[in-house]
Amino acid sequence: MLDILRPGRYINSEWNAVHKEWTDNALKIALSFPDVYEIGMSHLGMKILYGILNRVEGIICERVFAPWPDMEKRLRDKKERLCSLESSRALSEFNIIGFSLQYEMNYPDILNVLDLGGVPLHRRERGGSDPIVIAGGPCAFNPEPLADFIDAFVIGEAEEVILEIAKLVKDLRFKVEGSRNEILKALAEIKGIYAPGHNSAVKKRIVQDLDGSYFPTDFPVPYIQIVHDRIGIEIMRGCPHECKFCQACKIFHPLRIRSVKRIMEIAEESVKNTGYEEISLLSLSSGDYPHIEELAGKLEEKFKPLGVKISLPSLRVGTFEERNGMDTLRRAGLTFAPETGSERLRRTLNKKITNAEIIEKSRIALNSGWRKVKLYFMVGLPGETFEDMDAIIDLAGKIKNVNLSVSPFIPKPHSDFEREGMEKMETLKEKQRYLSSRRNIKINFHSPETGRIEAILARGDKRIGKVILRAWEKGLRLQAWTENFNYNLWDQAFLETGVDPEVYLKKKEKEEALPWGFIA
Ligand code: SF4
Repeated sequence: MLDILRPGRYINSEWNAVHKEWTDNALKIALSFPDVYEIGMSHLGMKILYGILNRVEGIICERVFAPWPDMEKRLRDKKERLCSLESSRALSEFNIIGFSLQYEMNYPDILNVLDLGGVPLHRRERGGSDPIVIAGGPCAFNPEPLADFIDAFVIGEAEEVILEIAKLVKDLRFKVEGSRNEILKALAEIKGIYAPGHNSAVKKRIVQDLDGSYFPTDFPVPYIQIVHDRIGIEIMRGCPHECKFCQACKIFHPLRIRSVKRIMEIAEESVKNTGYEEISLLSLSSGDYPHIEELAGKLEEKFKPLGVKISLPSLRVGTFEERNGMDTLRRAGLTFAPETGSERLRRTLNKKITNAEIIEKSRIALNSGWRKVKLYFMVGLPGETFEDMDAIIDLAGKIKNVNLSVSPFIPKPHSDFEREGMEKMETLKEKQRYLSSRRNIKINFHSPETGRIEAILARGDKRIGKVILRAWEKGLRLQAWTENFNYNLWDQAFLETGVDPEVYLKKKEKEEALPWGFIA
């Protein structure tokens, strides 16, 4: 392994990893995150599903992540298969492979994981003994770009439906000879499942009661540092706001709240079982959690003596106050998302905050011990002009110790702006140049090229499957990583498959059908 970067990505037996005896009758499920270990192991959904499945006798659930290119080369050179971490079995030996779809730029890695694991890429090429390939997560809300490769999609919150799926596959797999088609037909009958070719109108599944739902407190603790290397406790799901560009508030609707009592139980058990010394409170907008002072007070009382830090990463500016309870929180950097500098444009986004509030809250934050303020903006919003660029700079200029992060606006499926178009790349670049030239403020720009590919994959239809396949064949891997992203090869993949990318970026008229229109 000396020639492999970060071998800790591929070893096994981390603290709390589950090893079950590989018996004939057990249902074997591989949970796959199509990015590297450090990203996948940071994801709460993976921990939830791993815990739910492994608690059940007769189900073996193991993990597999996308290899970094050096490991892929080694596997291919040695003609070895990509294996699960726990039992080192090839993916082809599992009954179900479940992919987590968190980011469109990982789509080629789904094909890579399947190929390296010995599983046919196209669902139509899979036979009776091949695994059933399932995918879920936010990107599954437009499943069509992956419909050639995935047997069934979970639309909505997988923890609600995963055991139904497991039971069905287990029952049918062992009862019916050549049962693949039967299994897929039966899966399509479950609410929240889309099995391409078997059903055509799907309603999402949601967890009704967060307190009553399973939450992992004894998840595997990595040997190497991962992106979110701490305990993450989801305190709320959904968001009380309805920003028009926002996909998350729609797909995680309605708002559900976990009680302070349950959060405290989870926190205590997690600290005991994992040894972590930091707890992060997670939600789309943690500042809107209705019992934040009570929760912060109780966490401080319990964990300060133990030296466990608390962090609250996602705040809406409107909710940030000089509150006593917030004193217990870690103060590295604080992020606010004004989205745009001008109040006129912000009103059209349905974001109800003013520049005066942003400036005042930033001042309070900096005076209360936060070292810097990071502001998130988008460019290319519907109705935006160059004057709105000036407004970004003016706003940032009124805040001390400020960093800006500027991303291209992507009209995402299911958001209120789903029919909007994406701004031309040249205009996005011009706006970036304009912002850079205006003042000496640190600005981190997200690449318009990446944004453009992300938008096409997010808004795609079935034809985009050909492009994803061609991109993978051309060697595109781990495209969320700047050092691996290759825009020219994506361009070639479109050219060679005869798919016009512009179709997916333009404004969609009211009467035009949306590829994701059958998902509700
Ligand atoms: S506050 Fe954040 S999560 Fe909520 S709707 Fe607005 S952008 Fe979405």
